[in-house]
Amino acid sequence: MNKLLLFFCLLVSTSVFSDLKSDLDNQINPLMDKVIEWRHDIHQNPELSNREFRTAKKVEAHLRSLGIKVETKIAYTGVVGLIEGGLPGPTIALRADMDGLPVIEKTGLSFASKKMTEYLGQSVGVMHACGHDAHVAILMGVAEFLAKNKDQLKGNVMLIFQPAEEGPPEGENGGAKMMLEEGIFETYDPEVIFGLHVGNGPHGYIGISSGPAMAAAGTYRIKIKGVQAHGSRPWDSIDPIMASAELIQNLNTIVSRRINIVNNPAVISVGIIRSGTRGNIIPEDSEIQGTIRTFDPKLREEIYDEIKQIAEGVALGTGTEISVEFDVGGFYPVTFNNTDLVERLTPSLKQATNNKVYEMTPSTGAEDFSFFSNAIPGMYFWLGVNAPGVMEAPGNHSPYFVVDDGALDEGLKALVYLVEDYSKE
Ligand SMILES: [Zn+2]
Ligand SMILES: [Zn+2]
Repeated sequence: MNKLLLFFCLLVSTSVFSDLKSDLDNQINPLMDKVIEWRHDIHQNPELSNREFRTAKKVEAHLRSLGIKVETKIAYTGVVGLIEGGLPGPTIALRADMDGLPVIEKTGLSFASKKMTEYLGQSVGVMHACGHDAHVAILMGVAEFLAKNKDQLKGNVMLIFQPAEEGPPEGENGGAKMMLEEGIFETYDPEVIFGLHVGNGPHGYIGISSGPAMAAAGTYRIKIKGVQAHGSRPWDSIDPIMASAELIQNLNTIVSRRINIVNNPAVISVGIIRSGTRGNIIPEDSEIQGTIRTFDPKLREEIYDEIKQIAEGVALGTGTEISVEFDVGGFYPVTFNNTDLVERLTPSLKQATNNKVYEMTPSTGAEDFSFFSNAIPGMYFWLGVNAPGVMEAPGNHSPYFVVDDGALDEGLKALVYLVEDYSKE
């Protein structure tokens, strides 16, 4: 065989016998060592929503070191990278959220966070209690693999490192919605988006729902104004606390008595009740706040109407003045998993995890990934990160929430397999 022919045969054999999946399987061990190291570093240095300065710098430096085109300071601290593949194909977006939570970490891990900061005027701990450290590290790993193997990549991969998934501080904009408002989808024009979230599920298992996957999250704030008086002379007062008690009782009849939840679940919770300064004063004001979770926009409107009606009724009955506001701190729509995508790509998730995929019931939690997957078809799934063999463990937002490093490779593989299989079609 002459040299030219040998070269040609080698060229053909590499393009026929190697693809991104088999290359990843060969490269995954040293890559995961890096991913775990990055995660520990990010975990030890968590940052609150819209304050992800160090994390964003780390991501930026990594992407630049790989020769990836990078844009920074999107929605304050967001980072977007674009890996341009060597072969023609679609642009696929992958998303990782970067923020931690105002929680004092109690895991006892060697790389536990000891960080304290100011939040809403209080001194608080900061912890990656939702596992976003794992999301960032996994996507940094995906970026490294795809950038180094981009000759085989069909199309482009848009890497979205998003701030403020947990919600921006009061008075600030942020998160997925703000990244979209700043035009990232117009600039990069992705066809589809994928994202994952770690949770206290079985080790390395992927859970996915088709259609509505996570609820819409709305909020309400009810302000009650009465007349203040001495606690010994209640007849001189118009008591906002009595009115609050009536309101809370009645709010709890919405789901149980006033709306039809046969096909569409709904949750209404009271999370804040504030009033009074002393035991012997009937105060002038009271305030109630809570959350509303729904999967159906029409039902959500019905609930808002019911709350307004209840407030009017209680105001009339008690002589108080009552005002109701909705979604003051913003609103997250339903996180919808495109049913065609789930059908087409569940086999890829199974292949990536040795069949460790199960169908999940929709969660009443909420996600601002919903803004992305409302704009273009999207798919969002959960990765179980309990230690091997553990079924029950503290969940997201707990000060004891622990991510087992050994489960992260399944998440990284899943994202790469989704890219490879989606772009092939
Ligand atoms: Zn989260
Ligand atoms: Zn969270």
